[in-house]
Amino acid sequence: MKQYDVIIVGAGPGGIFAAIELLRRKEDTRILMIEKGKDIDKRVCPMAIREISCAACPECALLSGWGGAGAYSDGKLTLSPEIGGSLSRYVDESALNSLIAYVDGIYVGSGAPEKLYGGDEEEFARLADLASGNRLHLVPSKIRHIGTDKCKIVLKNIRDSLSGKIEIRFNAEAERIITVKKRAAGVRLRDGTKLCSGFVIAAPGREGSRWLEKEAKRLQLTLLKNPVDVGVRVEIPAHIFEPVTKIIYEPKLVFHSEKFNDRVRTFCVNPYGEVVKEYLKGIWTVNGHSYSGRKSTNTNFALLVSTFFTEPFNEPILYGSYLAGLANLLGKGVIVQRLGDLHSGRRSTRERITKGEVKPTLSDSTPGDLSFVIPYRYLCDILEMLEALDRIAPGVNSEHTLLYGVEVKFYSMLPKLTKSLETEIENLFAAGDGAGVSRGLIQASVSGVIAAREIAKRL
Ligand SMILES: Cc1cc2nc3c(=O)[nH]c(=O)nc-3n(C[C@H](O)[C@H](O)[C@H](O)COP(=O)(O)OP(=O)(O)OC[C@H]3O[C@@H](n4cnc5c(N)ncnc54)[C@H](O)[C@@H]3O)c2cc1C
Repeated sequence: MKQYDVIIVGAGPGGIFAAIELLRRKEDTRILMIEKGKDIDKRVCPMAIREISCAACPECALLSGWGGAGAYSDGKLTLSPEIGGSLSRYVDESALNSLIAYVDGIYVGSGAPEKLYGGDEEEFARLADLASGNRLHLVPSKIRHIGTDKCKIVLKNIRDSLSGKIEIRFNAEAERIITVKKRAAGVRLRDGTKLCSGFVIAAPGREGSRWLEKEAKRLQLTLLKNPVDVGVRVEIPAHIFEPVTKIIYEPKLVFHSEKFNDRVRTFCVNPYGEVVKEYLKGIWTVNGHSYSGRKSTNTNFALLVSTFFTEPFNEPILYGSYLAGLANLLGKGVIVQRLGDLHSGRRSTRERITKGEVKPTLSDSTPGDLSFVIPYRYLCDILEMLEALDRIAPGVNSEHTLLYGVEVKFYSMLPKLTKSLETEIENLFAAGDGAGVSRGLIQASVSGVIAAREIAKRL
């Protein structure tokens, strides 16, 4: 049986950057990458080619295949240790900043644009002051925007640069992590094939988070709790948010609500973008995209509230799915509501939406009443934050503003990890979104580099 030095499960940014770094540190490392999806050219998401909403394919080309969830993402590289993950728990700030700059350099070297948003410090400071006067904290961050359409090209360039240097098996799903005496020894695939290696990096992303959690439980690893994020996607005319997005492409604004003292934040802002439906774990949720070559007249962003549940409840993923499922039940999918209708205590109708000033970019949604779906606490939080946002970008809190629900972000149960992201099983490392250490491209990529550097030292 062929022996590898390292087996990487998952060809998303976490896995890819681990492979890049291993080769940079030790070019003769025998690396096998296992990916349950297809190669980049063979990945076809109906949403991307036919511009329709999610077709709920049995195997999701949006999330699986070379590039992972990154391939069809907006490619917004957020260059901040405070955003897109929790690596600051493992690495000190200055080391994390240099790791971020390092992976960013690889993205640029592979075709990501040179342009950085959020670079003008004076303008940023002015906006941050205005925000803080209105109880909003503007998180400093620079953003490089690749765009959904260019992401594929960048990932293909990376793929070509690794070609012939590593072995990659597509349509191969890891079923079991093989261990011998509490030490990683390889991976068994769903078809029964056994593959041996000295090290394993599990980087299965959101798509494989359930699998990793199951494996972690089987291997008796300690699991730490993560929150669930629940909220709505807001859609407004792009010019209204322009005073903010022209300074910082993807503003991260954090607000603490007065009534419940909950932390509410903007997430995934898409200037001139489109709202999309997403099929996740059997339910329809909402998301947003922006393209570098195709622009709508609207901007969309999520407003999310994070909740850490306490004893005895410990099923945050189930809770989020339940809420999104409730919207699906009432709306046969995603519900859209005008803010004015929500305030007036009535459902939105197709007619009222058509008469409104914001034309929905997601046509496949049902006008309805989100107050039947979203708990009072979250609704209060969201409405308070819309009021605060209106003070820095007048018009956000207009009656015409559209709210789509429910947007839910699930985070995987986090296995206990060392500073090098090694699990309690020797030589088994975990990286990326599936391990709960990242929530975005940059930190997922950095986590792969961290694991690879430690492995390279031991090889
Ligand atoms: C629509 C969308 C837009 C996004 N936009 C942005 C953005 O603009 N900026 C940003 O920073 N982030 C964005 N993200 C998030 C970003 O894509 C992820 O944070 C990032 O891709 C995570 O990288 P990863 O390597 O951890 O996992 P993933 O990219 O999810 O890759 C994991 C891979 O592992 C494979 N896999 C899973 N289980 C197994 C198994 N058992 N065997 C074999 N293979 C397996 C999966 O098929 C997948 O290809 C977006 C995500 C989505 C879905």
